[in-house]
Amino acid sequence: MTKYAIADVKARWILDSRANPTVETELRTEGGTVAVAAVPSGASKGEFEALELRDGESAFHGLGVKKAVDNVNSIIGPKVKGMDVREQKQIDDTMIALDGTPNKSKLGANAVLSVSLAVARAAALAQGMQLHEWISKLYHRKPLLPVPFSNVLNGGEHAGNDLSIQEFMVVPVGLKTFHEALQAVSEIYVSLRSYVTKRYGAVAKNVGDEGGVAPPMGNTQEALSALESAITDAGYSNGKEIRLAIDAASSTFFINGKYKIDGRLLTKEELMDYWKQVIAAHKIMSIEDPFEQNDFETTAKFTAQVKPLQVVGDDIFVTQIARLKRGIDVGACNALLLKVNQVGSLTEAVDAGLLAIKSGYSVMVSHRSGETTDDFIADLAVGLGTGQIKTGAPARGERVAKYNRLLKIEDDTGIPYAGPSIASKS
Ligand code: PEP
Ligand code: MG
Repeated sequence: MTKYAIADVKARWILDSRANPTVETELRTEGGTVAVAAVPSGASKGEFEALELRDGESAFHGLGVKKAVDNVNSIIGPKVKGMDVREQKQIDDTMIALDGTPNKSKLGANAVLSVSLAVARAAALAQGMQLHEWISKLYHRKPLLPVPFSNVLNGGEHAGNDLSIQEFMVVPVGLKTFHEALQAVSEIYVSLRSYVTKRYGAVAKNVGDEGGVAPPMGNTQEALSALESAITDAGYSNGKEIRLAIDAASSTFFINGKYKIDGRLLTKEELMDYWKQVIAAHKIMSIEDPFEQNDFETTAKFTAQVKPLQVVGDDIFVTQIARLKRGIDVGACNALLLKVNQVGSLTEAVDAGLLAIKSGYSVMVSHRSGETTDDFIADLAVGLGTGQIKTGAPARGERVAKYNRLLKIEDDTGIPYAGPSIASKS
């Protein structure tokens, strides 16, 4: 038995940012290292995500995680006891085999992921390393401080307004350090809040699930103009230091074969023309899920036509190798959104990320709309050197936890900021 052997695994429920329970696991090694990790949860989930195990009983409106917690405590824990926390793949493979289903529906992706993340954190701590250092070593990647794709204005399923598009993001590509980049994001966010409050009244002070403002608006143009005004008001310019990005999350407004946007019902061909106009008019550098999650063909056609625009696959790929391979084969998207809980283990999520990189795709590490204060993804983005992270507005504790962790990493290490490399690609 070495000091790296797992001595004890204990799960419990904690709350996420939408007041729903989620799984937190605490893992102890023989050497006395204690590591904790918690699992996030999405709202606009992809149809093919790994299964988040919920109790379906009256408690928590059916969203209890008692079964997932029990699965960690009585099935996964005893099985991984004695295993070496530095053997991430071996431990993840053991849990995947123990589950035995293609989508982790027996044990729950939430149960498996909480252990998987706690293992990585324990390995780092036990070796006296920062988590990002361990990730970078484990996966042979050069670390980078990621460019934040900051969702300052919320719509779609994350807000109570009539915007079809889910996320309106500012991207500080032209700043020199992560500190300067986050300062710009913060200044723009505060300018935006005052812009929308003046225009829509005090109701516009309310925020959506990811901390972005959520004014009562229903038109894409209106939202993008608000962002452009806020960028100027804060002393920056769109197209220079700052770029714009959107997550359409278009499966959420795909109704009976048409896309419902800006009060109109568009065919996929009409939506393609619409995206091209919006992208050109607002100097957008990145669009996520422009077409519904099963339309690889239109997504591929679009990706080819809008080059070098970044087209990110979230619901279409769900961080899973099989769907990503299909996308790479046909040329659907040129970037992967990496969400650890879409697949349910660190090993599988990183495998998808590495395949994307090998295939010339970019990778954006992402939070979920339901989050905890666990800042794991900040270290993941740095350690993998993906150059991009999506972790919401610079407001609300569960979002700020990741930003603040990135500030500390830059402060402690001087790892370079990815801004210039992203700017040159867009
Ligand atoms: C997203 O769609 O990119 C997202 C973060 O939202 P959710 O977690 O609700 O899927
Ligand atoms: Mg998305």
